[in-house]
Amino acid sequence: MANQLPYDGAMMPAELERNISEVEARIRAAERRAGRPSGSVSLLAVSKTKPAELVRQAHRAGLTAFGENYAQEMSEKAQALADLPLSWHFIGPIQSNKTALIAETCDWVHSIDRLKVARRLSEQRPPDKGPLNVLIQINTSAEVSKSGVTVEAGEELAAAVSELPGLALRGLMTIPAPAQGRDAQRQPFNQCRILMEQLSATLPQLDTLSMGMSGDMEAAVEEGAHIVRIGTDIFGPRYN
Ligand SMILES: *Cc1c(COP(=O)(O)O)cnc(C)c1O
Repeated sequence: MANQLPYDGAMMPAELERNISEVEARIRAAERRAGRPSGSVSLLAVSKTKPAELVRQAHRAGLTAFGENYAQEMSEKAQALADLPLSWHFIGPIQSNKTALIAETCDWVHSIDRLKVARRLSEQRPPDKGPLNVLIQINTSAEVSKSGVTVEAGEELAAAVSELPGLALRGLMTIPAPAQGRDAQRQPFNQCRILMEQLSATLPQLDTLSMGMSGDMEAAVEEGAHIVRIGTDIFGPRYN
């Protein structure tokens, strides 16, 4: 059915630029409300399902970091845009047979939830690229999601991943179930932040919380997010 839907990605440059400015203004306002320094949160533009040309437009409008959740799609866009200084973040579920592609293409992987996959990424990381930055995905809404490890299992996985030579463990990522209201939205982000504080006692290199999407980024920034992952509010709705 997906191929009968309209071309997913047509957007006027002025609309894209306006969306980006609005999202950046929301991030800066949330930083201010949270008493955090301006610029402490960075914007990852989630370009999944959107064409490479739209990513090129977004780069022209000032963005440099893009998130994808299908390895093949990411690799194709990265090749089509190899002339630009972009950084690619893999944020989707990781299939074992796609780890080589991910290890070769990305600067960051946000969705580590198994040691087996982490080991493969470490082994397959090209040495000349330096260690791959990785985040462990924490499942803060176990009843609705299969992705990520529980808060309880996070510590053991973090310790094991931190030993892998091809990876640099940088922090945690979470995708909470949709919730209404700022307080309800903040709760899972708070859990993730507290877990990172605990892990930092033995892993002082942890410095990155990837939390917040179009619908809950303000709550995430208030709870200490360093990267927000925004798709819809930048590129419009997805049709496939
Ligand atoms: C698609 C996706 C996003 C972006 O979601 P929006 O609601 O469109 O902003 C963020 N994070 C992950 C892991 C995603 O898969």
